Amino acid sequence: MAPDIHGDDPILRLNGVTKHYPLTRGILFKRPSGAVRAVDGVDLELRRGETLGLVGESGCGKSTLASVIMGLESPTAGTVTIDGRDLSLMDRRELQSMRRRVQMVLQDPYTSLDPRLTVGEIIAEPLVIHPGTAPRARRERVAELLQMVGLDPSHGKRYPHQFSGGQRQRVGIARALALGPDLLVCDEPVSALDVSVQAQVLNLLADLRTRLGLACLFIAHDLAVVHYLCDRIAVMYLGRIVETGTRAQLHGSAHHPYTRALLSAVPLPDPTARHHGEEIILEGDLPSPAAPPSGCRFRTRCPYARPRCAAEEPELTVRPGTSHPTACHFPLASPVPAALTPP
Ligand code: SF4
Repeated sequence: MAPDIHGDDPILRLNGVTKHYPLTRGILFKRPSGAVRAVDGVDLELRRGETLGLVGESGCGKSTLASVIMGLESPTAGTVTIDGRDLSLMDRRELQSMRRRVQMVLQDPYTSLDPRLTVGEIIAEPLVIHPGTAPRARRERVAELLQMVGLDPSHGKRYPHQFSGGQRQRVGIARALALGPDLLVCDEPVSALDVSVQAQVLNLLADLRTRLGLACLFIAHDLAVVHYLCDRIAVMYLGRIVETGTRAQLHGSAHHPYTRALLSAVPLPDPTARHHGEEIILEGDLPSPAAPPSGCRFRTRCPYARPRCAAEEPELTVRPGTSHPTACHFPLASPVPAALTPP
């Protein structure tokens, strides 16, 4: 029987997660001179079996947030709880057990696999690091994982350079699944792949998620990719979540101008078709997270900015006339954009 993929307990909860990197000035006598505010007060929840998409431009803090969730970096403030246990309060044994249950699929399948190891050794690595599996059982598990990700078990003897990009990403996914995790953090897992291969890897992730009942935090800069795979979507801009809702809510009635700009950038299947509603073309670059704009961080690129936007930072909340939380003083009442398609 397929596992219950939408249990109510959050497997992952972020409360006010903040990650600042201090900046210093001076060569001999270093003085603090501010901070890079990579992540600034993020609240998110991910339930069992659910796929949450985290979308935003490069440099908005998505990958830093993934590192904090994985325990690779400590938050400057806020808490990360996994199954109700605060990550910062876990002892060594709890951390080890948590690492079995939370695994990561990395962005670049070309650099994330050790070229000196065979694919079988790469996939078996987590089973060796977390002992308890006999060598024969390990070999059987590697063969099972290769099959699970659509590769031939005999490929375990080959080296990463003998595989295509898509196949290498399948190997990365097999390694992430080796310990039977409950939560998969996928950091831009298809952005380094050809468009033709992206759909295959996305289909594989969708299939594995359903079959194994995995919760998945899926990080991407492309809203079409996130839309295809995710139940809920959180949009991040310059270290903060600016809009969050179900796939249908964001697709049908995005209220934040930044989300609308991301939607406007999604190519439509019919070149003669137009997005419904007003398109917003994103201009300029992401401001520096070391000196974010006052008030609303999106105001320097927002076509709807008014004086209040510079004076007051908008809270992420459900406002009158909106169906889901949006961090905008003047949320857009939006008509439905045309259908999104996977790549
Ligand atoms: Fe634009 Fe103002 Fe809304 Fe920010 S708060 S997104 S600047 S309208």
